[in-house]
Amino acid sequence: MSQAGLIQRLQAAVAAFDFQAVSPRRVEAALAREHRTPEDLGALLSPAAAAYLEVMAAQAQAATSRFFGRNIVLYTPLYIANHCVNECAYCGYNLRNRIRRAKLTLEEIEAEARAIAATGLQDILLLTGESPAKADVAYIASAVEILRSWFACVGLEIYPLATADYARLHQAGADYISVYQETYDPALYDHVHRAGPKKDYARRFGAHDRALAAGFRGASFGSLLGLGPFRRDVLACGLHAWAVQEKYPQAEIGFSVPRLRPFPNQTQTEVDVHETELLQIMLALRLFMPWAGLSLSTRESPRFRDHALRLGVTRLSAGVCTGVGGHQGREKGDPQFHKDDGRSVAEISQVIRERGWQPVFHDHVRV
Ligand code: SF4
Repeated sequence: MSQAGLIQRLQAAVAAFDFQAVSPRRVEAALAREHRTPEDLGALLSPAAAAYLEVMAAQAQAATSRFFGRNIVLYTPLYIANHCVNECAYCGYNLRNRIRRAKLTLEEIEAEARAIAATGLQDILLLTGESPAKADVAYIASAVEILRSWFACVGLEIYPLATADYARLHQAGADYISVYQETYDPALYDHVHRAGPKKDYARRFGAHDRALAAGFRGASFGSLLGLGPFRRDVLACGLHAWAVQEKYPQAEIGFSVPRLRPFPNQTQTEVDVHETELLQIMLALRLFMPWAGLSLSTRESPRFRDHALRLGVTRLSAGVCTGVGGHQGREKGDPQFHKDDGRSVAEISQVIRERGWQPVFHDHVRV
């Protein structure tokens, strides 16, 4: 199916799903099934399913230990540049926001890598804003080559690229990409992406497909919770990941569940996704695709992240700086958002062990 056809089919399926009409019996049917359908995901996201959180949590925990054991992979993001040509209404890096902009030199990237590796981490997520003039593919490829020499696993959260550019970054040593559609509602997408190349919904939607076609091992999906009607966005996100998994059965698919956060020069954040809803979203995704990874970032509080160990999370960030650089002390550029969990790798590892799980620094060996 063409990409345009897939977008159309996905949007029609989400528009046709009536979350309010889901009955308790329909939720129970979804919970009883071993292999769940996309419609089951809708049922598990419905208001009716909120009464079944205990059952969902027990099933999610069993499913997670079946596919992942009691392992929690720790990783950290490394922002190497915060220049951006987009005007995303929800992000501190947007072009109109007056912040300290910066880009790390290759020497600074190496120094950051050394400092991060000293904490024991082996899985790193490289991030940039979208500015091909300041952080082009050649610069990102050089950064990946440096990180590859320090870490077992390198992920990318950068702007969408063409397949050939993804192939170049994969060859440099990148393993997986993280691309969030933010919202799957095309009208809202157009509204919150006020200007810049990110206005192109289809280009972003097709990024996972192009990266996997270029040889990437994995791809992570997410929508920015609180931006639009979250049930619709999470259902669409699940369907998107499902379709990509069908096309690339070997791909390691992951989900992330970021909620809106305040950012520099903006402190008010309207969020209608509270912790109970976030919990339901995590459980529903876990039960829908129990083999998929599930990341929880430092947007969430230590209390919620510690509690989430029992709820299907497989990846946690630790020792996080959300500004440019900062792993050796002062950040060179301002942060993208204000984090809520500033604990070190050692502190988070200790909590994981105390609760009966195992902190893991990488779960993949390149041969
Ligand atoms: S969300 Fe990404 S593309 Fe949008 S302003 Fe922030 S860094 Fe730039």
